[in-house]
Amino acid sequence: MKPLLLVLLVVIASGAKAAPRLTVLDVGEGQAVLLHEGGHGILIDTGHPGMARHVLQRLSALGVEQLDYLILTHLHPDHAGGYFRLREQFPEAVLLYTGHPLPPDVRPDLTRWLNQAVMADTRRRRFLAGDTLRWRGATLEALWPSSFSDANLNRHSLVLMIHYRGIRLLLMGDADVVVERALLERGRLSGPVDLLVAGHHGAGDATSEGFLATIRPGYAVISVNSDNIRGYPAATVVERLERSAGRLLRTDRDGELQFLLICPPSPENARCRIELSKAGEKAPTKRCCGEPPVPGLQ
Ligand SMILES: [Zn+2]
Repeated sequence: MKPLLLVLLVVIASGAKAAPRLTVLDVGEGQAVLLHEGGHGILIDTGHPGMARHVLQRLSALGVEQLDYLILTHLHPDHAGGYFRLREQFPEAVLLYTGHPLPPDVRPDLTRWLNQAVMADTRRRRFLAGDTLRWRGATLEALWPSSFSDANLNRHSLVLMIHYRGIRLLLMGDADVVVERALLERGRLSGPVDLLVAGHHGAGDATSEGFLATIRPGYAVISVNSDNIRGYPAATVVERLERSAGRLLRTDRDGELQFLLICPPSPENARCRIELSKAGEKAPTKRCCGEPPVPGLQ
């Protein structure tokens, strides 16, 4: 019997409620991560604007009818570009964002428009280092940033640790080695994590040796498109992760990655574990399909 089937049968037989899942969506160039359970979800980043339709389709396919929270790690278009479309679909979702103040002429323009819209969003709450969110048995803890020094978006990216009955999932956003060092020095990272979504799409300015030596991830995921124009992920980071993590997965090769947070039915305080339950759903490569040809155009 396949292990996943066995797990499902145990859950059904025990009458236990299904545990949350963490799904790293394949959004091509960018990041969108979904924590979901029982029709409810928290979306951490949206991918770029061209992926909003795909993200909405995946939320629906995964059974998420209500988005309780939308969290934006930072306002670069590959993370927050789907905000407008997602907001339209889920007007009730509480928006969590650091509130990183940006200059009025911040580039690119899409980031400037996002900044204006997010700052004017009446359902926005500030979420900074030390803040926690309790949601359906999980706790989302903001590790970074604690304050703002300049307009460097990546360096002020929200870093999140998700805790669930002993499981620890670390999402680095686009934070770089400076952030990693600061987190280590301040004692905000200690001991292994079950899953790491690697910082900055596996770029060479993140995921340092010292950082990995401390967190020793069970799974590591890189959210990136194939043939990335910036050359992500860096070969050195891939090699480092292959050496340090239990298993390295990449959305460009493995597609969407769904992890099951598995808890034994008893005792109540038994430690849970995560397991890769599904992979392979790919981001659309065409803008759209099935449209009739425009007359006169080849
Ligand atoms: Zn990014």
